[in-house]
Amino acid sequence: MRKRTTFFIIIIFLLFGSIAVILSILYVRPKQSLVKPNILLVTVCSLRQDHLGCYGYSRDTSPNMDNFSSGSTIFKNCYTNIPWTKPSVIAMMTGEYPYSNVEISEESALAPLLRSSGYLTCGIIGSNVPREGARAHRGFDIYLDNRDLNTSKDSHTVQADTIVDEAIKFLKKPKPQTRPLFLWVFFKDPHWPYLPPPDYRDKFLDDALYNKENRKLSINIDRSNSIGGIGEARLEKENGEFVTDKSYYISQYDAEILFLDSQFGRLIEFLKREGNYQDWVIILVSDHGESLGEENYFFDHGYKLNEGVIKIPLMIKLPRQAKKSVIKDQVSICDIYPTILSLAGPVRNMSKNNSTGNSILAKAGLWRRKLNPDMALMLENSPEHENEKIKFIGSIWEHYKLIYNLATGEKIFYDILKDEVRLKNYSGRERRVFNKISNFIKIFFNNLNNKNSTSREQLKSLGYLQ
Ligand SMILES: [Zn+2]
Repeated sequence: MRKRTTFFIIIIFLLFGSIAVILSILYVRPKQSLVKPNILLVTVCSLRQDHLGCYGYSRDTSPNMDNFSSGSTIFKNCYTNIPWTKPSVIAMMTGEYPYSNVEISEESALAPLLRSSGYLTCGIIGSNVPREGARAHRGFDIYLDNRDLNTSKDSHTVQADTIVDEAIKFLKKPKPQTRPLFLWVFFKDPHWPYLPPPDYRDKFLDDALYNKENRKLSINIDRSNSIGGIGEARLEKENGEFVTDKSYYISQYDAEILFLDSQFGRLIEFLKREGNYQDWVIILVSDHGESLGEENYFFDHGYKLNEGVIKIPLMIKLPRQAKKSVIKDQVSICDIYPTILSLAGPVRNMSKNNSTGNSILAKAGLWRRKLNPDMALMLENSPEHENEKIKFIGSIWEHYKLIYNLATGEKIFYDILKDEVRLKNYSGRERRVFNKISNFIKIFFNNLNNKNSTSREQLKSLGYLQ
């Protein structure tokens, strides 16, 4: 009898045990990993999305980035809210819309937060702007830029090969095992002047793209200032003559990308060989694109809001990710900050931040997190850029873009899919979208807790703000 009772007790235990195991499998969803991954953020200045092979470019400018994209999540519709370095870097490092911020704060920016949650933070930066303009060095345990590293084409730039040498040096150094790494490398190579290393200069000369028609720059090179993006001082001389062949400059811009790509490949190869590549989160993004003649504006950025300057590449590789995934949702440079923080696990002081971005891993279905309702992307050009007032603000919704020209009061409405054709006499759905975006812009700029009172007054005087 006793044997029988014991038998029943064991059976009941086994039964309950099995039910508990089954229930735990069915109802307890996987939790966010408590292991903080190493994070590599690669930012490339002035890199257009449409000049990379993995985004459809016909020139072979980016074999290594293309290869990287084949095991990453690639975002087809990523935008910067503002197409120049300083505010774009601020947006990337704080998640705050550029209009609301003038420099990176000590307490709520990405690097200080990561450091306070245990990360060893290192920035190896090929440009003077992130430190001098955005104060982006705050919160880094190690921060090296043109002040510390050998410079190349000018005193404000460090070439990509030097950046990668330094990054590898940092990775090889013995470090405390307990601290995960946040490494930010910033490449400036594709920025004007387009001066690739000598063995890259003829890579794209004389190919089918080079020999397309309408190559001559349609600007007056005698003009001394840089209206149109390019002035006499910025044109190279060849045998005493100015080079006025647009294709030549674009070939050199592309050669800069190819050189930068080779160095990006070197860094990835090192991680694969010696750095546990599989365990890293790697994010590749640019701060803005480059105008290569759109709106008759050449070899610069910051003044207009065409697709060439605002649409940027973004690829994210998660730990142990092997397959490519493609996301078409709109995301912006403001989304980098919350995305990295969501990957880094619980981080203190996040509540102090006014981030307007969302973790895009949620958008990509890779991360469970409640998102704010989708909002159209807000855009602006140059607040305080070279002491100029802001000239354009705008927004994108689906494939429509509305730009307000603040100088003339004009509203310009585009269909991006139709090669940025300017829409006129629109009605029906287009009219409804136009009204919707106008409303977005009004609400967004009215609600911004901005510090830029000059631009705010300007917007008010034009009737865009209340
Ligand atoms: Zn830049």
